Amino acid sequence: CGIVGYVGGQSALDVVLAGLKRLEYRGYDSAGVAVLADGGLAAAKKAGKLANLEKELADRPLPTGGTGIGHTRWATHGGPTDANAHPHLDNAGRVSVVHNGIIENFAALRAELAERGHELASETDTEVVAHLLAESFSSCGDLAEAMRQVCRRLEGAFTLVAVHADAPDVVVGARRNSPLVVGVGEDEAFLASDVAAFIAHTREAIELGQDQVVEARRDGVTVTDFEGAPADVRAYHVDWDA
Ligand code: GLU
Repeated sequence: CGIVGYVGGQSALDVVLAGLKRLEYRGYDSAGVAVLADGGLAAAKKAGKLANLEKELADRPLPTGGTGIGHTRWATHGGPTDANAHPHLDNAGRVSVVHNGIIENFAALRAELAERGHELASETDTEVVAHLLAESFSSCGDLAEAMRQVCRRLEGAFTLVAVHADAPDVVVGARRNSPLVVGVGEDEAFLASDVAAFIAHTREAIELGQDQVVEARRDGVTVTDFEGAPADVRAYHVDWDA
């Protein structure tokens, strides 16, 4: 339902949680975050309001890092439980993804992944993306390219945002039939389902077009189509008061 990603010099957890709060008005049943820190990936997710997640984070704090993602979920596949909340991880716990929308061909992808030995930990349509990204990243070594490869296999509607512990200063996103906006700050970048999530930090925005992938780093963003061809970037200035 609500998605926020961040890479930069601030605490990603703080930026992501504040962004998720700005998106709370949309309604949701669960929330979660993941941050990259100390060469690894740490995640927390809880059914219920953001306050439940914040209590979990108070009880079990995450390490501080400058790259992270977060999600508020409106369940479509799998009930509103902690296990079904996003982010979803691969079995090695190195890649983490959040998703808005519905992946229509998830059942076939789940079966294929199970056959290759993956263990799925949730009932969601989303989790297949984490496992597929892990496989693609391990063969190509580039998170944006891995996202393009995975998107070419997906049917349905999706905004996806992902991080990988082996790509510590990168957040990637993709979209089809569901919105994704990029906030370009000074030495930092934001990915979100709605500009409201980052308007406190920057008003320089890029609206991702249909079937595009974005790679965000502190020093800039790169946008391509699902085949990897450079895309025309629709940059604009957000001038309304949030
Ligand atoms: N289909 C996904 C799920 O049920 C994403 C739902 C959403 O857009 O929040 O987990």
